[in-house]
Amino acid sequence: MVDKRLDAVIRTTKSHLFKMENQLNIKTVKDLLSYYPRTYNDTSSFTKLTEIRTDIVNTVKGRLTSLFNVKSRLGKVITRGIFEDQSGRIEVVWFNQAHLTKLLPRNSEIILSGKAKFAFGKVSLQNPSYELIRKDEELLHSGRIVPVYHETEGINSKWLREKIKPLMNQWLELFYEHLPNEAMTRLNLVDIKTATKNIHFPETEEELKKARYRLAFDELFLLQLKALQEKWHFQNNIKEKANQIKSEINLRDFINKLPFTLTNAQKRVLSEIEADLSKEIPMTRLVQGDVGSGKTIIALLAALKTIKSGSQVCLMAPTEILAKQHYLTFSKLLREEGLNIQLIVGSTPQKQKEEIINQMKTGTLDLAIGTHALIQESVAFKKLGLAIIDEQHRFGVKQRNTLKTYGTPHLLSMTATPIPRTLAITLYGDQDLSVIDEMPKGRLEIITRHVPEKKRIDAYRWVEDQVLKGRQVFVICPLIEESELMELKAVYTEYEYLKEHIFPNLKIALLHGKMKQSEKDEIMEKFKNNETNILVSTSVIEVGIDIPNASIMIIEGAERFGLSQLHQFRGRVGRGSHQSYCFLFTNSLSEEGNTRMKAMERHSSGFKLSEIDLELRGPGEVYGVKQSGIPDLKMASLTDYKMIELARNEAIKIINEDPMLERHPILQNKIAKAQNQYYGS
Ligand code: ADP
Ligand code: MG
Repeated sequence: MVDKRLDAVIRTTKSHLFKMENQLNIKTVKDLLSYYPRTYNDTSSFTKLTEIRTDIVNTVKGRLTSLFNVKSRLGKVITRGIFEDQSGRIEVVWFNQAHLTKLLPRNSEIILSGKAKFAFGKVSLQNPSYELIRKDEELLHSGRIVPVYHETEGINSKWLREKIKPLMNQWLELFYEHLPNEAMTRLNLVDIKTATKNIHFPETEEELKKARYRLAFDELFLLQLKALQEKWHFQNNIKEKANQIKSEINLRDFINKLPFTLTNAQKRVLSEIEADLSKEIPMTRLVQGDVGSGKTIIALLAALKTIKSGSQVCLMAPTEILAKQHYLTFSKLLREEGLNIQLIVGSTPQKQKEEIINQMKTGTLDLAIGTHALIQESVAFKKLGLAIIDEQHRFGVKQRNTLKTYGTPHLLSMTATPIPRTLAITLYGDQDLSVIDEMPKGRLEIITRHVPEKKRIDAYRWVEDQVLKGRQVFVICPLIEESELMELKAVYTEYEYLKEHIFPNLKIALLHGKMKQSEKDEIMEKFKNNETNILVSTSVIEVGIDIPNASIMIIEGAERFGLSQLHQFRGRVGRGSHQSYCFLFTNSLSEEGNTRMKAMERHSSGFKLSEIDLELRGPGEVYGVKQSGIPDLKMASLTDYKMIELARNEAIKIINEDPMLERHPILQNKIAKAQNQYYGS
C-alpha cells in the first residue's frame, strides 16, 4: 500500500502512484526523497547563441520572438520559432508538441536546453527542454545542475523533479542524522539532510560531490556496521561456549613428516587459526588464497588439532568429486593417526549414510567429509569442534549457518575467489580474514597464450608431443548459458572431433555435469592415474581438483568466461614439477574480450586478475549479485577501497565502544531495519 502521506503530499493520480510503487519501488515520501538521480545535466552556464555548437547539449537563455505550428508533408505537427539573445538569433524546432504555441509566451525570458543540429544550411535547436523564468522562483529543469532519474513509462525526470523539489527543506525532517557530529567533522562529511537535498538539487559541483560522498560513505558504513554487529552477536550471544581446542597440542612432528615444507603464509594463517581455536568464543574465519596456494593442508592441520583435542570435525565441499578428493587426501596423510574418517555424499547408499550419521551422533566418528549431505536434517554431532567449508562462495549464507547450529563449532571457511582484501572485508565482514598470499616454492609460472585460429593445428601437434612425453591435458568447452542441452551437445561434438580427427592415437575421455556420479568418479580416477591422456569437459571441473601430472589446459570459447573463472581453470594445471601451459581459443572477440585475454597472458595472480575483472565488468557481473550476496549499492563503488577502509574503521570504532548501539538509537534502528537486506536468506 502506498503511504497515505505520499498520496497526500505529492497530489497525483492513482495511476502515477501505482507506477511509483510497482515500478520504482517508491512507497513513501522518504522513498521518493531517497530516489537518487541517475546522472545530471549541467546546464548552469548559458551558451551565447553565436557560440552554439552542433551535436552537443547547449543551454541558452533568451526570448522567443515568434512561434507557430506548421504541418509536415506526412501530417505531423512541427512547431517552429525564432529565439534571440543579446548575441544573435537561432531557429528552434519541436516535433509533435503543438501545445507549445499556447504554453510558451512570446518575448518573455525562457531557458532552452537541447542539441543543436545542422540541416538545410543552417543550425537549429531541436526539441529542447524549456523552462520559463518567473521572478522569485528557482530554476528547476535547466540553467542549473539538473538531476536525471531512472524513468518509467509515464514518469519522467521532469515529472519527478517537479514532485521532489517542493518537498525540499520541510520534508527533509524525515531524515534523522545517524552519524555522530564528531565523526562528520573529522571525516569532513555533510549532514544527511544537506546530502539528501543536494543529491537532487545541488547549486554547485562541489555541493554535489559532497552529497555523493556522504551518501556513498553511508552505504559502505552501514553495510559494515551491520556485519560487525552480527559477528559480535554471534560471538557473544552463543548458548554454549565453543569447545576450546587445547593449545598445547603440537603439530610440529606431523608437519615435519609432510612431503613439503609449509610456506611462510601457510604458517602464519595456521597460527591465526590455532589462536582462534584455543578460545571459547567460536571462530568464524575465512581463509582466502589463490588456486594452488595450499589451503587444504591448512584445513587438515586445523582438523587434526581439533580431533587430537577430543572433538569432531566436518568438512563440506561443493561437489562430490572435490569431497572425494579431500577424503582421499585426508585419509592418506592421516593414515598413521588411526582416525575414523568417513565420506558422506549424495550418492552414498542410504544405509551407509545412516550408519555414518549414527557414528556422528555417538561420537565414534572423528572426521566427516562430504557435500550438502552434511547439512541434511537428520545430521547431528556428539561434539563438533570444527566445521570447515571449502570453496565457501559456492554455498549460501543459510548453508553456512546450518553448520553453526551443530553445537557451537569453530567455523573455518576457505575460498579461492580472489577478491581484493578491502572488498572481502566488506562482503564477509562477519568473518575474520586470513590470506595465504604466497605460492609454494618451486612452482613454475604457467605460460598462457591466446592462440589465433590459424595456429590451432600447430598447437594440437605440439600438445600431442607433450602427451607423448607423458603429460596430460584438460580441454574445457565453452560455457553455453542458453541451455544445458546445447552445452552437452557442444562438449560431445568437441570430444568426437578431437578423438577422430586430431588425436586418434591418444586416449581421450569425456566428462560433463549430467553424468552419473559413479561415472564421473571413474573418469576422474582414470585421469588421475594417467590412464587417459586428455580430458574433455564442460566447466564442471572448475573447482579444487588436484592432478599434478596435468600440465596443459586448453580453453575453448575462452571469451565466454570471466577472468576469475579462467584463472580458476588455469589453476588446475601447474601443480606438479613440469612446466605448464594454458591455451586460450576464442570464437569472436570484443574489445573487452581481447583485454581479458591479454590480462590472462600477462598476469598470474588471481588478485590482480580479479581487480581487472572488477574494472571491466563491475562487481555484479564478476561475482553475481544474487549468488554472492553482494549488495546492490546505489551510490558507493565496491572498488573504492579507500572509502571502504574509511567506513570500515568508523564502523569498528563504533562497534568496539557500543556493540548494541545503545548510545546510537538512530543507527540501531537503521541497522535493525537493514536486517537481511544485504545478506539474503
Ligand atoms: P588450493 O589452495 O587451491 O586448495 P591445494 O590445497 O589443493 O590448493 O594445494 C595444491 C597443491 O599444492 C597440492 O598438491 C598440495 O599438496 C600442494 N602444496 C600445498 N602446500 C604446499 C607447500 N607448502 N609446498 C609445496 N606444495 C604444497
Ligand atoms: Mg582447494
